[in-house]
Amino acid sequence: MKNIAVIGSGTMGNGIAHVFAQNGYNVSLVDISEDALKKALATIEKNLDRQIKKEAISEDDKKNTLANITTFTSTEEGVKNVDLVVEAATENIDLKLKIFQNLDKICGPETILATNTSSISITKIAAVTERSEKVIGMHFMNPVPVMKLVEVIRGYNTTDEVTSTIMELSKNLGKVPVEVNDYPGFIANRILMPMINEAIESLYEGVAGVEEIDTVMKLGMAHPMGPLQLADFIGLDVCLSILNVLYEGFGNPKYAPCPLLVNMVEAGHKGVKSGSGFYSWGHGTKDLIVADRFAK
Ligand code: NAD
Repeated sequence: MKNIAVIGSGTMGNGIAHVFAQNGYNVSLVDISEDALKKALATIEKNLDRQIKKEAISEDDKKNTLANITTFTSTEEGVKNVDLVVEAATENIDLKLKIFQNLDKICGPETILATNTSSISITKIAAVTERSEKVIGMHFMNPVPVMKLVEVIRGYNTTDEVTSTIMELSKNLGKVPVEVNDYPGFIANRILMPMINEAIESLYEGVAGVEEIDTVMKLGMAHPMGPLQLADFIGLDVCLSILNVLYEGFGNPKYAPCPLLVNMVEAGHKGVKSGSGFYSWGHGTKDLIVADRFAK
């Protein structure tokens, strides 16, 4: 594998492009928005500078990494002659099904099609293509250049050969891949989201306050960030939509989203991206200030 296309250049897409390019792959970075592509390149450059400052890479490494990335607003142009496509477009099922139908038509028959989806069924995405055996989940964590894990998700028809190719490839990127099967939430979100939901339930029931809940998990369980702070970073709307996938996928009430989470999303308090959630973020993300509503 040498030539990779990344579809979508947002938070995850730019990180995925960064990591492939830094490891010597030719990357075609595709987005429908020219502005998003410009922002992605600026973010990659800023993150490379940070790596230089930490003496993790040299100026030459930065130059070579940037030289390995070409941007496209046309998917047809971007996926020409690629061995692998990693789709990291907006988390919307209809959009993803459309993208995969199109990729299946325009990519060479040997091209593997991977998706970075957090919650959509790989099997469902694969079913709209004529190559379901070559469709796989490649779930990177945010921020991609820093986080070691790649959850490699086998759809119902994904072959052993395609799975081992993607496992090897992930190792070549300096990541630690973990193979999992395609069921709602995979492993990461199946375990993380109920924990976040339980933290919100505890707040909702008045068992403890925001700071107390996060402190218990940070100091008691050695989590680098409490579950409520983490939920604010992920986005409360994203947490809600993943919980709904678990709830509907398993039909089990234990995954029902907490009514407080539903209310906060409906009221527009989505965490860092909207300026407030469990904490207030108007001042930036350095200091933790509990949102007025939850302050004591
Ligand atoms: P984002 O909103 O930051 O970026 C999505 C990008 O996709 C945008 O730049 C948008 O212009 C582009 N896009 C939309 N339609 C497109 C199309 N047809 N062709 C090409 N580009 C298109 O989203 P994100 O947070 O980077 O998430 C991307 C994917 O990664 C989602 O599936 C999400 O579930 C998954 N994911 C996100 C995180 C996270 O922490 N943000 C973590 C793991 C996985």
